[in-house]
Amino acid sequence: MRVLRPPASRAAGQLCGGFTAGPWEVDGQAKHAAARFVEQVVRGAGGTWQVSSSIDPPRPQLAPRRKGGPTALGRAVLDNPQLRISEPARADVTDRRVGDPILSVLDALARTHILQVQAFVSGHPGTVYPTARVSNHAVGRAVDVRSVDGRPVIEIPRDDPILVELMVAAAAAGATEVGGPVPIAGRGFFTDGVHQDHLHLGITPGAAPAIPAAPSALR
Ligand SMILES: [Zn+2]
Repeated sequence: MRVLRPPASRAAGQLCGGFTAGPWEVDGQAKHAAARFVEQVVRGAGGTWQVSSSIDPPRPQLAPRRKGGPTALGRAVLDNPQLRISEPARADVTDRRVGDPILSVLDALARTHILQVQAFVSGHPGTVYPTARVSNHAVGRAVDVRSVDGRPVIEIPRDDPILVELMVAAAAAGATEVGGPVPIAGRGFFTDGVHQDHLHLGITPGAAPAIPAAPSALR
């Protein structure tokens, strides 16, 4: 049996993937969704509660598991002592659910920093909150980084240059969507309420890599 929840009840800390609106709009969307939720329950009167795709969009197809073990790059990432990767995320690499392009971004950043990887595919919502749009996580094209050099992202002071440095480095390594706790002017960067505690790095095929508007935009 499915657990029936309005989108507003989902844990904000686990939701991300390219949404660019401010927190006030997130709140507005959530209220709207909650209102629809109530309406749907009332309409389902007669003793039964009904789930409608308008309030609980079908989960997108997640990247399939493939046999054969990790790719060569995947093996290198798993063995990289600079990368601390959660067990579910390690399994995603072993099962080839994560593409080499986003692994190469991670590999590039790990040359100069110790990164804690929270999620690739497993354990991440398949859609971009609060929309029904498929997240790059679902198809193995995104990663969430929870800490840098042993410091949780949420605890790093917002004026610490490490945040901008890493986000810009991810763009230079090929990420097309770069989310984090600080704003950066330019293509492909975003910040919002759910990206205060991690960095989201993703690659949308066909999209140009993120790029800062100008060096002067960087603090
Ligand atoms: Zn993410």
